[in-house]
Amino acid sequence: MGRRVLIVGGVAGGAACAARLRRLDESASIILLERGPHVSYANCGLPYYIGGLVEEQRLLVVRPELWRRQFHVEVRTEHEAVAVDRARRRLRVRELCSGREYEEAYDALVLAPGAAPVRPAWAIPLPGVFTLRTMADSIALRAWILSRRARRAVVIGAGYIGLEMVENLVRCGLEVTLLEKEAQVLPAWDPEMTAPLLDELRRRGVEVCLETCVSGLEPTTDGRPCARTACGRSFDGDVILLALGVKPEVKLAREAGLEIVELGGIRVDEQMRTSDPHIWAVGDAVEVRDWVTGRWRLAALAGPAARQGRVAADAICGRPSRYRGSQATTICGVFGLTAAATGATERELRAAGIGDYEAIYVHPLHHAGYYPGAKRIHMKLIFSRRDGLILGAQAVGQEGVDKRMDVIAMAMAKRATVFDLEEAELCYAPQYGSARDAVNLAGMVAANILRRDLEPASWQRLPAAEALLLDVRDEAEFLQGHLENAVHIPLAELRGRLHELPRDREIWVHCALGQRSYYAARILSQNGFRARSLPGGLLTWTLMRQAGRTPLPPEPPSRPESDHRDWAES
Ligand code: FAD
Repeated sequence: MGRRVLIVGGVAGGAACAARLRRLDESASIILLERGPHVSYANCGLPYYIGGLVEEQRLLVVRPELWRRQFHVEVRTEHEAVAVDRARRRLRVRELCSGREYEEAYDALVLAPGAAPVRPAWAIPLPGVFTLRTMADSIALRAWILSRRARRAVVIGAGYIGLEMVENLVRCGLEVTLLEKEAQVLPAWDPEMTAPLLDELRRRGVEVCLETCVSGLEPTTDGRPCARTACGRSFDGDVILLALGVKPEVKLAREAGLEIVELGGIRVDEQMRTSDPHIWAVGDAVEVRDWVTGRWRLAALAGPAARQGRVAADAICGRPSRYRGSQATTICGVFGLTAAATGATERELRAAGIGDYEAIYVHPLHHAGYYPGAKRIHMKLIFSRRDGLILGAQAVGQEGVDKRMDVIAMAMAKRATVFDLEEAELCYAPQYGSARDAVNLAGMVAANILRRDLEPASWQRLPAAEALLLDVRDEAEFLQGHLENAVHIPLAELRGRLHELPRDREIWVHCALGQRSYYAARILSQNGFRARSLPGGLLTWTLMRQAGRTPLPPEPPSRPESDHRDWAES
């Protein structure tokens, strides 16, 4: 008799674990228990089903019959695991259609119950109010929109699911209002990098209300749902979607006495084993190590869930696989704009007490400028000031964002530095990229800073800066708009007009995108001036102003001399 493995939860993590187990162990008896009516479906595709882009049937990746026939995995849908008797290694299961309860013995138990949408106490159930987690949720929401001929929707929460749903509700022909309590969309991101998304949402006719904190739901007189804010504003619609984030589903684990930790997830080791040696847990329900900060984190993402399912299967079969942690690589599309990120944001680094980093901005075109259709990518790269290790990146643009972020994500996974990005040999022909790709460019700017070829100034500190602001763009560009008090000397005239500049004051050079200011800063520093360049040029400043904030990061710690020598020698 082979080992008996019970898996609770039959979607991303649970299904990945079941399939891997079967590949490793033909003799195992594997039972997949799923509370809902569907297993192995593409929950990441649900917003696109609601938008009418993907058919319901196409969301079902592997159906129960195929699990049985091809994998010899017994799938029991509408069966809920309700209690674990760890001492006897028995799982109590309820058959939902009949209410009958029974016990199943296990040698190994895998918990993959996922995460539940956050639903605060004010979010009372009302007709027309939805959350989105399962296929059943999405079927109900789409049916509601179609049957009521819905015209207006209110989405509460501007995270990834909120934004994807805004796009798909607009695709269904609805007028959409997006409410977000923070001062930016994608609240997990650094604010300035979200500015293009906000712009695009508004350009597409979405009413976006930031710093708008919903405190209650109520029905209107004609029975439609309405969201009320603390300061007395009301937003009604035919449908309200709560997209307020998720929290790990840990009831079963908690009641079984398994260790649950600070952030509310199940504690697991690198082999996804819980505090009980016979129980594994994977996916949205667990806490994992953050690849950059080393702290525990929640990472509610499909890729990590599937990999963890695989690691748990390996561990059950005695293989030494380990889950190395999550770097939270994410991507989201909104009306043709793509926003992608990997690793830590500045905000996360500061929260983790890491201040020894630098952030740069570049705004290259996604392929050669002369080839038709070149689109700009806004990219932020965060790296360690000590050794150039890449700590995180965020990018937004219409084209080519996913490819750049995937390259950087892989570089981070290999603990690469900005010097590796500088040297990366990436594919190039004019319609795909540039001989100096966006990734190379970001690496070069960062490496220039570490080699001290480029001293960066801080856009965030601009309002309080005592430095002379020097704009080196051309006359026509300057006349179109410039920073208050900026002195203007076009780059081409700089060498002949050095006598106009002070030697007793720092000079902060800027241009449109950061390239000419770098050239100018090189000229100035080689002529004995104290010059710094503002990274990413005035385009970065525009993003910061659009985000409505210019937060001051902590004062950077002074850099020990030995660091500079190391770089000079390497
Ligand atoms: P799930 O896939 O949620 O599966 C958990 C299952 O366990 C559920 O079906 C649940 O019914 C079942 N269950 C729970 N408790 C029990 C019990 N006691 N007994 C039996 N069954 C139980 N991630 C990305 O990386 N990219 C995306 O684009 C993306 N888009 C998303 C869009 C939407 C709308 C949603 C909801 C999520 C999206 N995600 C995305 C997140 C991703 O889907 C999850 O991170 C991933 O599915 C987590 O896998 P999991 O196995 O932990 O949980």
